[in-house]
Amino acid sequence: MKKRPVVHVDILSKPHRLSTKPDEGYLGQIEYTSRVISVSEEVPLDEGVDVLFHEALHGISFHLDLKLSEHKVKLLEAGVLQFLRANGVKLTPLKRLIQKSRNR
Ligand SMILES: [Zn+2]
Repeated sequence: MKKRPVVHVDILSKPHRLSTKPDEGYLGQIEYTSRVISVSEEVPLDEGVDVLFHEALHGISFHLDLKLSEHKVKLLEAGVLQFLRANGVKLTPLKRLIQKSRNR
């Protein structure tokens, strides 16, 4: 088995390693101190982008000490992604990062 490539996403100039193994029962997860974001391999790539974006919002909230609740993160996720997609912004680069983190 080939080793998975190490993939990082940048959140506020802090590299976070992109992994594929959240805890059981979660589609995504962020560990703030070790700076690891996990997106489940069970999630199709398109939805994976939403999961990654959601976890990145948690990261932004943490690093800027915004103290956003889960509810507010969900609302921001839906609102910002709707805005981007409705205005033709392609999130393909994020999809590629997730794809790359899944390659064996
Ligand atoms: Zn969340």
